[in-house]
Amino acid sequence: MSEGSTASGPSVFGSQGNRLRLEDCPNCGCRLICIRSKQPETFNQMFFKCPNNVRGDPNTCEWIRSERQYETYLCVLDARKQQCGDLQVIGDARMQALCELKD
Ligand SMILES: [Zn+2]
Repeated sequence: MSEGSTASGPSVFGSQGNRLRLEDCPNCGCRLICIRSKQPETFNQMFFKCPNNVRGDPNTCEWIRSERQYETYLCVLDARKQQCGDLQVIGDARMQALCELKD
């Protein structure tokens, strides 16, 4: 893949108006898709998932993240690509989330 340019790849706007770029599934390499939940308990929340993920079918790719998890995932990706200075701005809570996500 191309190295961390800020190119205007495919992206969506999160609930806070923040821009979230669509990465590739780490399992399949397919471009992730953004969906809105129709389940009552998470109604209208955004989720990011692999297009190969079929709900209720364990044989399909299991990769799915809530909006917040996905935001963190993007930060982790950035941090891996380069020492991302933005992480300092994001604050302690987010850093903690990063640590939890790492293993
Ligand atoms: Zn996948």
